[in-house]
Parts: sequence; structure tokens; C-alpha cells
Amino acid sequence: MLCFNLQSYLPVLIMGSLYLSGSRCILRQVFFGLPSMLQRPYSLDVSAQLLRTRAFIDGRWVSAASTFPVLDPATGEEIAKVSDCGTMEAQDAVNAAYKAFHLWKNHTAKERSILLRKWFELINQHKEDLAKLITAECGKPMKESIGEMTYSASFLEWFSEEARRVYGDIVAPSAKDRKILLLKQPVGVASIITPWNFPSAMITRKVGAALAVGCTVVVKPAENTPLSALALAELSVQAGIPPGVFNVVPCSREKTLAVGELLCTDPLVAKISFTGSTATGKILLRHAAGTVKRVSMELGGHAPFIVFDSADVDKAVAGAMVSKFRNSGQTCVCSNRFLVQSGIHDAFMEKLAKAMDAELKLGHGSEPATTQGPLINTRAVEKVENQIADAVAQGAVIVRGGKRLEGSFMQPTLLSNVNTDMQCMREETFGPLIPLVKFNTEQEALAIANASPVGLAGYFYSRDISQIWRVTEQMEVGMVGVNEGLISTTETSFGGIKQSGMGREGSKYGIDEYLEIKYMCLGGLSL
Ligand code: NAD
Repeated sequence: MLCFNLQSYLPVLIMGSLYLSGSRCILRQVFFGLPSMLQRPYSLDVSAQLLRTRAFIDGRWVSAASTFPVLDPATGEEIAKVSDCGTMEAQDAVNAAYKAFHLWKNHTAKERSILLRKWFELINQHKEDLAKLITAECGKPMKESIGEMTYSASFLEWFSEEARRVYGDIVAPSAKDRKILLLKQPVGVASIITPWNFPSAMITRKVGAALAVGCTVVVKPAENTPLSALALAELSVQAGIPPGVFNVVPCSREKTLAVGELLCTDPLVAKISFTGSTATGKILLRHAAGTVKRVSMELGGHAPFIVFDSADVDKAVAGAMVSKFRNSGQTCVCSNRFLVQSGIHDAFMEKLAKAMDAELKLGHGSEPATTQGPLINTRAVEKVENQIADAVAQGAVIVRGGKRLEGSFMQPTLLSNVNTDMQCMREETFGPLIPLVKFNTEQEALAIANASPVGLAGYFYSRDISQIWRVTEQMEVGMVGVNEGLISTTETSFGGIKQSGMGREGSKYGIDEYLEIKYMCLGGLSL
């Protein structure tokens, strides 16, 4: 049963070396004193061209005065040192993006489409190496990293297609001597600030739409995961994206406040697109107010997962597993609050516990058998640990897991007898914890589900078609999974309501976030 007990597998001593072998860059980490799976050397073996460590500004690789380390969250080992940009580099990037905007917006939609398509194809060609970078810096299992790269590339493909379908309107005028047209035009320079949990896809989901319509961008990736962003920059060069159109300014947590402020207040920036926590989103919204910038905010979630008596219990268990444990519970759409109707509660809990025993395996993300990598850092582990301690102190029962392991690893945990006063029901977990709350009626479940200041995703399992409509319409979220635990795709709109943010990404709507509508009144006509 304890296939996820990693305690005995963690390294006692780690030594690492980074060297070039032909055109490949190889980081070799050797684990000593280990009884088992992490004992053999772990290699990060990627094309040297893709392992970029300097900022990318105006088509050039730029060093900053200092560097900051990027760590493998599974081991704490340093993977690379990356240029630590300050406000000077950020300003250079904004200036370059502004200059490039006036050229890029004048490319035809077809020309921009062709370049985005080329970028998409290059990403697909290098998918394996790009996935290795994600696993190394973010910790997720390779299979998930490959999945993220497919998802990431798909936004460039999708928006290369959408680029050519940006239409305006011709509107019937109220005066006979006039014609009215609504023109769609790019907003300008967009500052793009992204989180570590999808180091590649959160960038392309924004940048694909921005570039498609003629905007240029400055990307500030999360301090934990700048390598994926810089690898995208390398491929943008190979794709022929002109200098200044796509800029990347990595920086440490220490420099984030100043760099973030510059990117969100500089008058040359017209648009801020942010994905990350609600707390940070609120800071950026305040920054945006000073110069009244357009904003898109993809913020935190606290997804309910409701299992009604009418559900197919096996499908509900499968949905719970995929919706909770992807990226070890570190996605904004991960289910957080599990509400299970009294008639199905015990059967659901028993089968879920068995599925956790059978399917979850902790380890380094590069190990093929691993399904659960580390959390991003020890702070993230402490948050889950505190939520468990708080719940247990108030009467919750640990059904599986419950323990913090060494480093950034946390046992996948199942709690029963949970109530809505507990911390895990009131704040986003961002870790592998399933708290089960028993309820009796549909109204009760909806009241609990909607009693949250955020509303990103929500899930429920039911085979009653009337209930499916009722609950879908009443759930206060931007995305609903009905009998489905994994719902993100490029073609559909991604985004939340309430304090989960504003705006939509992906789908035909994602492109609108980067467009202004200009009304043209052509008057004085003799018709
Ligand atoms: P975070 O808010 O701490 O960081 C996100 C980004 O913002 C990072 O690049 C960080 O460096 C930057 N940042 C932090 N403080 C800043 C400041 N004052 N000024 C400018 N930039 C600043 O979030 P995180 O911990 O990296 O990500 C996890 C959060 O992101 C979770 O709440 C999760 O739900 C949310 N998220 C949302 C979505 C979505 O699409 N809605 C997707 C992924 C993650």
C-alpha cells in the first residue's frame, strides 16, 4: 500500500556537474547513499541550443549584472544560473517591444500566421527536450511534461489559424450620408507574467494570441522556471519571429517586485496579462490602474468536486484521480473541495483510497514510473502539512497518507470527516490533498461549492440529466466538468469568475484580449 512512501528513497548527498557534449548540454546528478530508485545518476540531457540562461531582449541574448540559481525541486540541486534582470533590462525589453510593435502590426495576418505556425512546428520537433526542461525545473513527471508541451504548442497552432480570422463589422448607420465600420486593432505592447506550474503553456496561451493580432510582448517567467521560457525564445528565433516581438526577462524573487512594477506601469505598455495567485493579481491590478492598462487575470481557484448519489462511482473515482493529482495537485483547476452525497460516500471513499494505493508513485519526474513529483518548494509542502494538521485537530480522519516526506515531497493524502470550517475548505491547497465532505441534498452541495470568493473550475458527477443542467447553471465558476475531471483544451475558453480573474484565454475569445475596437464613422457621403 505504501507505494508513495518516499522517505527511504531520498538522497543523503547529491553531487552535480554540468558539461557540454557536442551540441548537447548534460547535467549529471549523482545520488549517494540511497537504497533505491534515486541512486542511479540522473541526467538532464538537452540540446545546448535550448538550454539558454541569458535574457532575450530585442533578438539578442543579454547578460545581467548577476545571476540567480534554478533548482531541481526534487533534489534542491542547481540546474543552471540564469541572468537576474533588473529594471534596466526590463525597460530595454519594453522599449524594444514598443519599437517592434510598429513593424509587427503592419505584417499581414497571413505573414504572422506563417511565423507562428513555424514556431509551433519547431516546438513539436523539440518536444522531448523541452519536456525535460519542464521536469527539471518544475518537477512534474515526464509524461505530464510531454503533455504540457503538446498543450503549449497547440496554442501557437490555434492562434496561427485564428490570426487570419480577425474580422471587424460593418454596421447599419442611422443617417443616410454615413457608413459605420468597427475596426479591430492590436492593443500594443503586452507584459506577460506567468507562474511556474505550467512553465511553457502559460506563456504560449497568451503570446500566441498577442502575436497573432500584431501585439509584441515582454515575458517575465516565474523565478523557479525561466529555462522553459528561454528555450521558447530560442525557437522563436529559429522560426523567424523578428527581433523585439518576443522578449524574455527572467529575474529572481528579490527583483520581481521592481521588475513587475516596471512592466505593469510603464506608459509604453498597453496590456498586462497575468497568470498566478489572486494575491499577486490584486497588486498588478493596482499597478495597472495608474495608466489604465487593459488587463487579463488568470488567478487562483478552489475547485469543488461534487459526487451525487446518481453518479457512476468508478468514473467519479477516475475523475477525482486525474483532477486532483495532476502535477501533484499544483494546478489552478485541481479539485480542492470534495463533496460526496451520503448514499455514495462510503463506496466512493473506499474505491478512491484503493486507486491512490494502486496508481500513485512518488519519485523524480525523470523516472518513467513516477506519477507524483515533488511540490515546487518546501513552503508549498508546509502549506499542505498545515492544512492537514488543522483538519485533524478539528476531527478529520486520515484515510491515506498525511505525512510530509523529505525535501519537497508530500504523501498524497485522503481525509474523511471534513467540515467547511477547516482551512483546506477555505483556501486553495496547491498540493496532493483530498478532503471529503459528506452532504445530503443538492442545495446543500451547491451552497458549499459556491461559498468561495473564487470561481475558476468546478466538477460534478451525476447521471441525472435534469440535475446536470441545474447544477451547471448554478455553479459559480468559469468552467464546469460534468462527468469529466480533465477539461482544458485549446479550442475552449479558459478563465474564471469572482476573484479567479477576468478575461478568457484559448478559444476564439482569447484573441479579443489583445484587440481594441475602433469605430470609424465615414460621413458626408452623397449616396
Ligand atoms: P504567484 O502569484 O506567486 O507568481 C506568479 C508570477 O507572478 C511569477 O512570475 C512571480 O514571479 C510573479 N510575481 C509575484 N509577485 C509579483 C509582483 N509583486 N509583481 C510582479 N510579479 C509578481 O503565483 P505562483 O505561486 O507562481 O502560482 C500559483 C498560483 O497561480 C495559484 O494560485 C494558481 O491557482 C494560479 N494559477 C492560475 C492559473 C489560471 O489560469 N487561472 C493557472 C496557473 C496557476
